[in-house]
Amino acid sequence: MTPERLERLIVTVADAVIAHEHELTVLDQAIGDGDHGLNMRRGFEAVRNEARDLACKPVADALNGIGSRLVMTIGGASGPLYGTMFIALGKALSPDASNLAEALACAVGAVMARGKSQPGQKTMLDVLAPVQAAVAAGGEELVQTLPVIARDAALATAPVRAVRGRASFLGDRSIGHVDPGAMSAALIVTTICGAWET
Ligand code: ADP
Ligand code: MG
Repeated sequence: MTPERLERLIVTVADAVIAHEHELTVLDQAIGDGDHGLNMRRGFEAVRNEARDLACKPVADALNGIGSRLVMTIGGASGPLYGTMFIALGKALSPDASNLAEALACAVGAVMARGKSQPGQKTMLDVLAPVQAAVAAGGEELVQTLPVIARDAALATAPVRAVRGRASFLGDRSIGHVDPGAMSAALIVTTICGAWET
């Protein structure tokens, strides 16, 4: 991974998150407090502003830097959770990234520990866990299959009753709505895959 490529990847992901602010806001207005779009935009604007500096570092340090910025700039639950995810990924990933599946498992585990949550509870974990499982299963076409897996997993949160996060306050009324954090996770995965070979 050259610094130029890493910078492009960081900027592309940040731009995608920023461009989807409204969609994430609307999802969070339905079952939360309506700030997920703003939270994610704020966090990823901070990341985008530092993209060049971050990209000059080894990938592990860049991931750690992304996570720290998200923790520092996002007020809501998603800040510490996404922050923890990127920081844990940076810590676990080997310099050649050959242990990506294992490192992602550490990152998902760190989010679970931080959120006291598990997949199946209508959160970002409902996307992150199946994405990690698909990476662990391997295959040639991951860049094509992961976006489909991630998006389907996000949409599959709709019939689930939330048991973690703000949406859980709604009980049964959370049913029928896609989880905002699951959708932002799918967006990040999809964008990374789309940009991977460019
Ligand atoms: P807040 O809930 O503080 O308003 P956001 O709206 O930015 O923060 O983020 C909400 C998203 O965070 C949810 O849609 C969900 O995916 C995720 N989330 C909330 N709590 C948890 C948790 N305990 N574990 C995992 N993910 C969570
Ligand atoms: Mg919110």
